[in-house]
Amino acid sequence: MPTLRAAVVMLLGSLSLAAQSRPLVPPAAGAIYQRLLPQISQIKLFDHHAHPAFPGDDDVDIAPPPPGQTPLRLRDDNPETSAAARDLFAFPFADMKGAHGKWLVDKKAALKRAHAGAKYFDDILDRLGIETSMANRVAMADYLNPARFKWVFFVDCLMFPFDNSALAARNGDEAVYMPLQTKLLRKYEQEAGLQALPPTFDGYLTFVARSLEANQKRGGVAVKFEAAYFRSLYFDDPPRERAQAAYDRYRGGGVPSPQEYTDFQDFIFRRIVVEAGRLHLPVHIHTNAGGGDYFNLRNVNVLNLENVVRDPRYQGTTFVLIHGGYPFDRQAIFLASMKNVYLDSSGTELVLYPGEFKNVLRVWLETFPEKVTFGTDAFPYNEALGVEEVYWIGVHTSRTALAAALAEMIAAREISEPRALAIARGYLHDNAAALYK
Ligand SMILES: [Zn+2]
Repeated sequence: MPTLRAAVVMLLGSLSLAAQSRPLVPPAAGAIYQRLLPQISQIKLFDHHAHPAFPGDDDVDIAPPPPGQTPLRLRDDNPETSAAARDLFAFPFADMKGAHGKWLVDKKAALKRAHAGAKYFDDILDRLGIETSMANRVAMADYLNPARFKWVFFVDCLMFPFDNSALAARNGDEAVYMPLQTKLLRKYEQEAGLQALPPTFDGYLTFVARSLEANQKRGGVAVKFEAAYFRSLYFDDPPRERAQAAYDRYRGGGVPSPQEYTDFQDFIFRRIVVEAGRLHLPVHIHTNAGGGDYFNLRNVNVLNLENVVRDPRYQGTTFVLIHGGYPFDRQAIFLASMKNVYLDSSGTELVLYPGEFKNVLRVWLETFPEKVTFGTDAFPYNEALGVEEVYWIGVHTSRTALAAALAEMIAAREISEPRALAIARGYLHDNAAALYK
């Protein structure tokens, strides 16, 4: 799920300067920053969370960006998008007004024709120094090279097999989300050869496990929960009998009470956590402020997950807190004290400018540096503001903010320069790559 969720219709306003923003580095760290940045820019990247796709590809996400208020940097007049297009596509204008946006759309279309198959997106990764990018999608696309893009598949739908009309009626966002969950569950059922939900709860649990196994065989390397878009991230630990009773009662129809449905979801969530651990599939969980005016911040607070990630029964499962819990980022890093819990910074570097993202990174890297991973949350917003430009903004923000954070830590005599570069390699590549060996 993208954090950048402006309902951008036509691109970019009237700013005359199209340039990338930058962190302001204190004088005592300035020379160190200048030394570190070129070295950091040479490190191959492992993008732990992105949604690569051409515009109009519906498989890019199962909970598409709803309309809502958009933070300053994510609005359509951000000049950084023109800077990205200039660097990637030799975009010759300072803004995207009028025919300028059309120039970019035409340029990408020509490149796509010239670079058939997977070469278009391989080239984008090469231009940005990205070795591997996670592809969080409903299904993989034939235009993404499986050697470079690794599939992360959605599993929330397995928690929502009953009549979801009451959940869909809560607000306009849920009216879009819940039918899509039902649609994805039907897809998983068809792929498992089922005409309907299995007649017994045991049968359903088998279906859940088989769905994970089948998607792993299709190339899936991790599972993704976007649960905070639909409910709280607090998952209780109800007895099996309560989940089974809900299944027996509502499998064939009828709307469960909120408590009955929550019990069922909590039980299935924990079952997926165990199955994912058995299959060595890291569990990715969306943990930051999401898009749309109805997104519930209390529900997404990462501390809701503490009872799960600190549960000794789940030590065999790797958890990745996608988007680093922002704005609860200071709480989130302490969950990464668990050896099986990681923080992914994607999305946070898009909402924040490098000046503040640097501060977030510095606290994280001063606490559990080996548990923090780089990601972009790149997403195709429309034909002109594509996933390519968002990858670019994410990469440049992360490199400059990282160089600034480490320069400050060196200047403050917290770490040595060699140690700083080791931390940089871990954050940008090695920490995440090790999870998928
Ligand atoms: Zn995302």
